[in-house]
Amino acid sequence: MSTSLNRRRFTQLSAMALAATKLSAQPEKRIGYAAVGLGIISDIFMTACSQSQNSKVTGLVTGHPADKGARYAAQYNVPAKSIYTYETFNHIRDNPDIDAVYIGLPNSMHCEYTVRAAEAGKHVLCEKPMAISSAECRRMIDACRKANVKLMIAYRIQQDPTFARVAELIHSGAIGQVQAFDGAFPTNMPPGWRYNRKLAGGGSMFDLGVYPLNTIRFLTGEEPASYAAKVATRDTSGRFAEMEQSIAWTMNFPSGILASCSSSYGQSGENFLTVRGDKGFLQVHPAFNYDGIRLTGRTLQGPIDEPSNGKKPFQFTLEADHFAGCIRNNTQPKTPGEEGLKDLLAIEAIYKAAGAPLA
Ligand code: NAD
Repeated sequence: MSTSLNRRRFTQLSAMALAATKLSAQPEKRIGYAAVGLGIISDIFMTACSQSQNSKVTGLVTGHPADKGARYAAQYNVPAKSIYTYETFNHIRDNPDIDAVYIGLPNSMHCEYTVRAAEAGKHVLCEKPMAISSAECRRMIDACRKANVKLMIAYRIQQDPTFARVAELIHSGAIGQVQAFDGAFPTNMPPGWRYNRKLAGGGSMFDLGVYPLNTIRFLTGEEPASYAAKVATRDTSGRFAEMEQSIAWTMNFPSGILASCSSSYGQSGENFLTVRGDKGFLQVHPAFNYDGIRLTGRTLQGPIDEPSNGKKPFQFTLEADHFAGCIRNNTQPKTPGEEGLKDLLAIEAIYKAAGAPLA
């Protein structure tokens, strides 16, 4: 296939994904989300809902109801009665406008608010990483199962047409037999609570490393069979006293695929994912940004170069609408709690392999 044909096919795929979202739209009843924790990611999610035909913001949960809560309420037309604090959170049970919660809190708070939302009878869309331990993930899954509500982890990759295209190329044999993956997510400026192990669970692995981990698990369809890992900290300020600054790890999959990954809170450079087959390769670079993702490589059909045309926050709109469709049609999300649990089990094994066990 030529590059221009590939581009056309890619544009078709993107259009199909958006059309599928619109098809299931029922404008008369959008799914109502209460955003829990009004920080950076919730702000993006709420903007995404405002661009959606299936989802809308109908509740706010914040420690600052009078200022932050009132400001977002005005922006998204949320009535004052639907602004909650962490103390009054359980009262969402009595609010029929709230179908689901979106949890945008520090990692260690995901478990408590998922369980409380489930007990209030609300579906849960929870940010990644799902929690700070596999034990917490299991509690969240059990609580949602018991309450008969849906639980989805807010991974963006499974919603993004570029990664659907990568999966399609891999599965069609366009790069031959897949041999290896390389993935990295470096940054150098983590905000506040991410330095606090009690809130974050660990270092860059929890925040960033989970992206290549989850994406490679998604694309292989396999669970890692063994791991090797190293952690390192060069920062001498003391900020990383409780966690690693950087981590590098490898994973062997049962099929023989080898993956080599890293994440860091102290490295510059672009995040990426490379898939190497014996007859071609694919590179997504950047891979894990909110937009501007680009797929290049060489397949059996020739070279490809396919920049994404999605604009932030389109991944979050697809995510909100996918979960809205699951709630409306009683279907299983692409990334249920069990996916988050598998990542936490891998994260625990990676820290153990690095000689830095979490517990
Ligand atoms: P943030 O610091 O911007 O927001 C956190 C919110 O939680 C704030 O509103 C804060 O007031 C509130 N909060 C309540 N109790 C708190 C406490 N004890 N300490 C600190 N904050 C408290 O963080 P963020 O970047 O929005 O991250 C929130 C979650 O979203 C994390 O789990 C993170 O991993 C995830 N996240 C996901 C993506 C993605 O692309 N899917 C991107 C960034 C963050």
